Amino acid sequence: MFFVFCIFILPITILLILLLSTRQKTDSESPSTAPMEVCALCQKEFPMNQLVEKEIGTYGRVYCFCGECIETLYNEFKGQTDIKQENK
Ligand SMILES: [Zn+2]
Repeated sequence: MFFVFCIFILPITILLILLLSTRQKTDSESPSTAPMEVCALCQKEFPMNQLVEKEIGTYGRVYCFCGECIETLYNEFKGQTDIKQENK
């Protein structure tokens, strides 16, 4: 009786473990693989919701920019325009 129990329970538990492990894998992989994109300026990877997508040039190539790069660009621009205004 115990032998029969083992024969039935073992494959079921193995199946359950396999099912659970594959489910956990797909759950952990789906958010990381789907929306990750590389910033065009610093080449770091960011999730899509932290990047700004811009179509650039006549070919309509889409580039992604991270908040940090946009901020440094803005500061550079601000510094340049400030210097220009001071010189006038
Ligand atoms: Zn960046």
